[in-house]
Amino acid sequence: MSVYWSELVHRLTPYVPGEQPKLQNLVKLNTNENPFGPSPKVLAALQAEASESLRLYPDPDSSRLKSAIAEYYGLQANQVFVGNGSDEVLAHVFQALLKHDQPLLFPDISYSFYPVYCGLYGIEFETVPLNAQFEIAIDDYLRPNGGIIFPNPNAPTGVPMPLSDVERLLKANTHSVVVVDEAYVDFGTQSAVSLVNQYPNLLVTHTYSKSRSLAGLRVGYALGNATLIQALIRIKDSFNSYPLDRFAEAGAIAAIQDEAYFEQTRQQVIVAREALVADLQSLGFEVLPSGANFIFAKHPKHAGEQLAAGLRDQAVIVRHFKKPARILDFLRITIGNPSQNQALMQALRTLL
Ligand code: PMP
Repeated sequence: MSVYWSELVHRLTPYVPGEQPKLQNLVKLNTNENPFGPSPKVLAALQAEASESLRLYPDPDSSRLKSAIAEYYGLQANQVFVGNGSDEVLAHVFQALLKHDQPLLFPDISYSFYPVYCGLYGIEFETVPLNAQFEIAIDDYLRPNGGIIFPNPNAPTGVPMPLSDVERLLKANTHSVVVVDEAYVDFGTQSAVSLVNQYPNLLVTHTYSKSRSLAGLRVGYALGNATLIQALIRIKDSFNSYPLDRFAEAGAIAAIQDEAYFEQTRQQVIVAREALVADLQSLGFEVLPSGANFIFAKHPKHAGEQLAAGLRDQAVIVRHFKKPARILDFLRITIGNPSQNQALMQALRTLL
């Protein structure tokens, strides 16, 4: 007979991250990392930090980084919150701003961490189906709610929402917090950061893991009005979360100040994506429109699970989601560098 405390443990549903394989020499296109590596200026900043300051504690408030991010977006430093990856930022957002007497709303195909946070923090939620084109259906969110969160572009579909739709949602939904998770926004999706000063209930989250190619450093941030940001700081302080370490702060400052490198590499990803989409379509794949550094594609004659397994046998890893049923046939493929993308195409040709 099970006992009460073990029931509690079983009830916790963990987030299942994409695989981080131990094998070398794999073509790793499964967790949306950037194939081009971070700016050389980041590496120089890390080197300087290593030789000069590691004996010192980090700044608990990451003040220099917040100022650098605020300056980049033309905001005030008190409109910026930083955390160890945007997953940590989102954890604080769920705890601070999305727990209400009404359910939180998010799309039915979306970032799989959202329901996990809800489970962990006891937040009631309802999922809202995507429309037939796999788009977020704004009108379905215009009802009583305790908050709204969605990625833009959406994940794992990659489908972008135009800024005019985000604004339509904000105009209609003024009573609860609207969180736009812009983890992949820099790859061709319109950002809602420009709306932050106009809509006091809008919070936008970003990560350094994708367009800045710093997944290993763990830096993410939220932008919003100072009152929302203050709520996140209260949660961070109350739970005694770790501040960013010295490497994370120094590297993140250097990255946001190297606009030329950022612009060059994000364009390279976009160009590689368009080439890969055309190649996949020539093999008969259907590919959803993507504003991200990954694409969501299915082949009308081949099941996603078998394709993923067949690719793996050839040392190419992509992501296949078993749930929900509607996306069973799709593969989520990270845009690699040209030689990785060629290896993927080569492996697919042997399977089809
Ligand atoms: N939001 C979305 C939609 C994501 O896909 C991810 C990456 N798994 C994150 C947030 C978190 O990214 P990170 O913690 O690396 O900043």
